[in-house]
Amino acid sequence: MIPEAPIALALSALLLTALPLAAQQPADLLRPEDTEVWESIPPVVDPGPFAGSLAAPSDAVVLFGGSDLDEWMNVADGAPAGWHVHNGIVTVEKEAGDIMTRRRFRNYQLHIEWRIPEDVEGEGQGRGNSGLYMAFLANGRGGYELQIVDSYENATYVNGMAGSVYKQSPPLVNAARPPGAWQSYDVIWTAPTFTADGVLARPARVTAFFNGVLVQDGFELKGETVYRGLPEYHAYDDAAIMLQAHGDPSPPISFRNIWVRDLP
Ligand code: MG
Repeated sequence: MIPEAPIALALSALLLTALPLAAQQPADLLRPEDTEVWESIPPVVDPGPFAGSLAAPSDAVVLFGGSDLDEWMNVADGAPAGWHVHNGIVTVEKEAGDIMTRRRFRNYQLHIEWRIPEDVEGEGQGRGNSGLYMAFLANGRGGYELQIVDSYENATYVNGMAGSVYKQSPPLVNAARPPGAWQSYDVIWTAPTFTADGVLARPARVTAFFNGVLVQDGFELKGETVYRGLPEYHAYDDAAIMLQAHGDPSPPISFRNIWVRDLP
């Protein structure tokens, strides 16, 4: 056994020098700003006015149709989702926290409409922040976030704008509408696959349209969304979809017309 030790040491030294600097650092030592990207700023594209809700196709599961949150529960305690349903829309209740679907999904097409309140306050990430977790693992690690935030004349790091895969991929363009207007995401989510040993076989992929405009074109995710440090993968089979109740102080955002179609 003893002769192997120097070889193992030499190998690990080789591996360490081959890795980028950041990967050598424990994730909990990295500052959040270390993974912010501020350039290049995606060009602004006017998507035009909201032209009407996209009806749920016959094979869709309606996750929110305007009347109740039966398909959802609080992440924190598993109780019925504590957000405020009114006038066919649902508004975040920050005290209830994040909500997640009771159903679980693998690959799917999803439609969701959301609205930043007209009286939104704050700036940067503190202005209408929420998030669509395309796969939420409910194991304390989180999942994979398509960012929701006010990106209309509100500067922030580009990999944290609306339509970004948070801290991984900026949107191709900024197709945000102003606060008070309804907006939409249409998402095609392809879950990552893993070997029987839990090793990543194929990364997750996402294609997303923001107000009908392509913002993610088959982007291959680097792992789960993390605020600090570098993304990693952890094996899973299927996952909930989660909506984030962000702790920013701005007035809460609203959602409506959420549906999903399972894909093979
Ligand atoms: Mg967010």
